[in-house]
Amino acid sequence: MTENIIKKIKEADLVLVGIGEQLDLGGLVEKEEPYQRGDVKLRESGGAWMLPYLKKIMLEKAGSGRLGLYHSLAQCLNEKNYFVVSLCRDGLLGKSGLDEKRIVEPCGGYVRLQCSKKCCTELFPVPEGLLEQIRGFAEAGYKGDQPIEPLCPKCGSALEFNNVDAADYLEEGYLEGWMRYKKWLQGTVNKRLCVLELGVGMKYPTVVRWPFEKIVFFNQKAELFRVHDKLYQVAEEIGDRAHGICQKPEEFLMELCQIMEGRC
Ligand SMILES: [Zn+2]
Repeated sequence: MTENIIKKIKEADLVLVGIGEQLDLGGLVEKEEPYQRGDVKLRESGGAWMLPYLKKIMLEKAGSGRLGLYHSLAQCLNEKNYFVVSLCRDGLLGKSGLDEKRIVEPCGGYVRLQCSKKCCTELFPVPEGLLEQIRGFAEAGYKGDQPIEPLCPKCGSALEFNNVDAADYLEEGYLEGWMRYKKWLQGTVNKRLCVLELGVGMKYPTVVRWPFEKIVFFNQKAELFRVHDKLYQVAEEIGDRAHGICQKPEEFLMELCQIMEGRC
């Protein structure tokens, strides 16, 4: 099947890829022992605000294997006119060799900070040195002087990462990318479009899963490949232009990687 999908990608005029929550490394990191320990310690010491930073630090360590797989995806899409919509917040796609102008991440990530009270639409960088301080604090067993929590320069409320976990998520963070995506979609009408969904479940179905089905339903030249180990079912109305593939998305990427390497 993977061979067939690569063939379809190569034949298509345009390729639309959806990366789902199943591939988000954040969930894996949260289950790891160092994060769990940090979770307990930071909550005990009143430093729970540091948890998302701890996750960011751990994501940077955990991502190298996955990055190799995304490299192959990038290699496969390289010469195509593509767009990627990702529900992941681990920030790995941006480092994979894919064109950042062809990626949108509507769930945000761990790069920029927003005001927790949303007093303004401005996004702020992580203060210099803060990650190192938090790393040091964690390595010292969460003892000693606590780093200082960054605050909104406008209203003094806490700052938090600009992602869906924010109490009041500032969607401006991804709007520019979303506009580019919408514009790109307009150009898919009546074109041979290959749609690939990897690990997209039902967490945010209105962002990828349902709209992708709709796109394929209306474009008679479009074909959908949905890779998921449980929720691989496809809408009947699309008929034989939609294919549900019961497979873990990581496994699909590994196969893709092997095939792409074999070609080099
Ligand atoms: Zn504010």
